[in-house]
Amino acid sequence: MSKVKFYFPDSHDFVDPTFDFEKETHNEHRVIQRDDKYAHELFSKPVYDGILVSKAVVDGLNGVKGRYSVAQRQRFFREGIYKFFRLPKFYQTMGDCGAFSYAKEYEPLYTIDEVNEFYSNSGFTHGISLDHIIFDFETPKRKITGEQLIECKRRQDITLTLAEEFLKSNKGLHFTPYGVAHGWSPESYAESVKALQKMGYRTIALGGMIPLKSPEILSVLKHVNEIRNNDTQFHLLGINRLNHITEFSNFGVTSFDSTSPLMKGLKDDKFNYHTHGEDYTSIGLPQVDANNNMRKLVQTGAINQNQAFDLERECLDAVIAFDKGTTSKDIVLNSLVKYEKIYNPKASRIELMDKVLTDKPWKKCPCDICQDIGIHVVLKRAAARNRRRGFHNLYIAYEKLQEELKKIQ
Ligand SMILES: [Zn+2]
Repeated sequence: MSKVKFYFPDSHDFVDPTFDFEKETHNEHRVIQRDDKYAHELFSKPVYDGILVSKAVVDGLNGVKGRYSVAQRQRFFREGIYKFFRLPKFYQTMGDCGAFSYAKEYEPLYTIDEVNEFYSNSGFTHGISLDHIIFDFETPKRKITGEQLIECKRRQDITLTLAEEFLKSNKGLHFTPYGVAHGWSPESYAESVKALQKMGYRTIALGGMIPLKSPEILSVLKHVNEIRNNDTQFHLLGINRLNHITEFSNFGVTSFDSTSPLMKGLKDDKFNYHTHGEDYTSIGLPQVDANNNMRKLVQTGAINQNQAFDLERECLDAVIAFDKGTTSKDIVLNSLVKYEKIYNPKASRIELMDKVLTDKPWKKCPCDICQDIGIHVVLKRAAARNRRRGFHNLYIAYEKLQEELKKIQ
């Protein structure tokens, strides 16, 4: 069993397994989600220990729909989380409320009863109490005082009051309850943890630390560890600092969650294909008829649509041929640079493209995605490829985590 578990916060992240990368077609009879595959279905070994699902993602908030369609949401509750996600039982499942989605409100927009109902009906193994995020964090140069301090304390009080209610109502329910500790300084986080332990919590999630620098997180952990009961376990909400995992573990952290590896694959412009060594940058190959930037360029007459279509196809054919070994790197680069000149005339990425084509890191990666789709994993081009690159990054992050965990005594 892993000493520090990694939870992946799912936000409807799946891919169509029947997508044809050469013809770029989907199976027309595919039912979205039901016929798609999650990361745990695509890899032959786990890339996370569990998934985290937010109530806000499934149920929406304040009359605004979440990411799930009405039919998907109904099926989620009818089938439960394990069946809906086709998730083997050895995975953990953690529910939370998605505090970021209502962070600007005066108070959280759900009730404890609604949260309990969500966790119980879905069959989660772990459930996080309803909380309210504190946005400020004290630094030696910037003390929190006055109105700002009053607001921090008000939010801390709300979170602690809700945690007490959540724990009391947990009797007879079949998930492990987590109280949430928020704070604006290492000392105030420690006060929250102290209060939660007094209520009876032995599993505590530390929230609101995403914007903090690693030394600040470590300072919080050092303080909370001083008053931690021996059997209290911490979960870090939204934190992915693999190089500090040994220290985190020494301070009582037994789990964390983060979308960072996936999001970097999806969104980061640079170094978004990770490896155990250096990270690489994906090769831009935008779709003329689907990419927003390309559409705008066509509509404004900045580029000729037919010429763009021809170059797009030329590039796609060239990268596929290159992966099969039937064309040279120079020919591919030449096409890519010609295409780049029309969608991004100001800044060329020829060096980064050259680097990834020279090293061919996807050929060295044993993960199921790279083995299956080859060079497509490094193309920055729509969700079928970008999300798979994010999944590959999850694979690498989980391997790195296991390596770090070996160092823990
Ligand atoms: Zn891979």
